[in-house]
Amino acid sequence: MRNTLAIDLIFEQSRKGRHGSEFPASDVPEQPQADLLPADQLADSAPKLPELTEPDVVRHFMNLAMLNMSVDTHFYPLGSCTMKYNPRRNETLIATPKLAGLHPYQTESTVQGQLQILYELQEMLAELSGLPGVSLQPAAGAHGELTALLVGVAYLNDRAKQQNRPFERNIVLIPDGAHGTNPASAAYAGLKTVEVKSDSGGYVDLDDLKTKLSDKVAVFMITNPNTLGIFEKNIKLICDLVHNAGGLVYLDGANFNAIAGITRPGDFGVDMMHYNVHKTFSTPHGGGGPGAGPIAVNAAMTVFLPAPRVVCCEKNGQKRYSLNYDAPKSIGRVRSFFGSVGVLNRVYCYLRTLGATGIKQMTENAVLNANYLLAKVKNHIDVPCGDRCMHEFVASASKVKAEKGISAMDVAKRLIDYGYHAPTVYFPLIVKEALMIEPTETESKETLDRFADTLIEIINTDADTLHNAPHSTAISRPDEVAAARKPVLKYTE
Ligand SMILES: *Cc1c(COP(=O)(O)O)cnc(C)c1O
Repeated sequence: MRNTLAIDLIFEQSRKGRHGSEFPASDVPEQPQADLLPADQLADSAPKLPELTEPDVVRHFMNLAMLNMSVDTHFYPLGSCTMKYNPRRNETLIATPKLAGLHPYQTESTVQGQLQILYELQEMLAELSGLPGVSLQPAAGAHGELTALLVGVAYLNDRAKQQNRPFERNIVLIPDGAHGTNPASAAYAGLKTVEVKSDSGGYVDLDDLKTKLSDKVAVFMITNPNTLGIFEKNIKLICDLVHNAGGLVYLDGANFNAIAGITRPGDFGVDMMHYNVHKTFSTPHGGGGPGAGPIAVNAAMTVFLPAPRVVCCEKNGQKRYSLNYDAPKSIGRVRSFFGSVGVLNRVYCYLRTLGATGIKQMTENAVLNANYLLAKVKNHIDVPCGDRCMHEFVASASKVKAEKGISAMDVAKRLIDYGYHAPTVYFPLIVKEALMIEPTETESKETLDRFADTLIEIINTDADTLHNAPHSTAISRPDEVAAARKPVLKYTE
């Protein structure tokens, strides 16, 4: 049962003098505060913390948690985000004190096992992408985009220097269906973005790409499969066009879960890519701290990767692992220590437990599930470019909006009443009233059947019932723009 009660803020539940624990009286002399901290760092008064009993606090946070939807409680077909179930065995394996209890400043000889994991993970990611140079440092997909763009520019700059040419490439080409992080990363790297159109089939418009390629273009960033869930059938030709113009091809690997173990970006001409390990390799999304967005680059670019990387050498038949800081052409560090090691260890567990055949099966099932769902709903709601799909598809509520006044937002909000997390809505921007649906491989046929039936039922519901859905939640329709643009994050009396 969902909790439909509005929950008071913990500050509002506070009663003066209530507390959870009894501390013994202090048996050391009290120090004047001014002796402990410089005066300019002292607050005028103690912080106004809420005063509650321990059970009140526990219930408060349990009840808040139960208002939430999660992969562990609900089907969560949030397109592009790949909300697949995260196997518990990953958590058990990485929680061993032999890994979780390590300190990043320990000497290398005492952390050989951890270094071996990181080294083998570099090797596995290189194998999966067909790109031999891997950096585990970036803390998210978007951070990987930025890191790889900096690596790409460093490489191009170096190449121009070797050829005694001025370096003038500062444009990043980005398809109009791209995720917002792509242009943001390019801007952050100090580069200009130019948009490339999609054609009516949802593919990169080759004529438009040709007119935009020039000797000013540094990188073409492409998502493949793209955000419509379609594999770019011209990908080899696209890579050739970009290379012939002297540029590099970057693959946004957010949809790698649709091709892992089937094809390799390095084999179809890509120069560099990132992995979203929370999408493809079942690490937790957000929540527990920084994530990981490793990158892989081609052999020529490897020397520009962030340092240190883990290297392995063999001495007297024994493998020794160490961190290599000797990287004069490296762009430098992008993250403290060696990246989010706790997250990377989960990736390693996932890949080792699946193995090569398991990864291929994961991918095939993700694509099968998406196509099954697509086939069930496409006679009821428009799916532009949706004959077949990869791991996700984008439906459009345009027609039902025109005919019955039901928007993508109405459908998404009503799904919550039926116990489903809503799909991604209004993205990609090139599809009007978009509903981006990604079931993932971890769902059963029964779950997909129930979801399809519910979606169809909602589309055939009276529009007025939908306009103020969800009816089952503590808050129905918050002002989402204000919540994003003017968040109120602290309590003021
Ligand atoms: C999720 C996503 C990103 C950003 O990745 P983060 O790991 O969330 O930073 C980039 N591109 C696409 C297509 C995505 O779906």
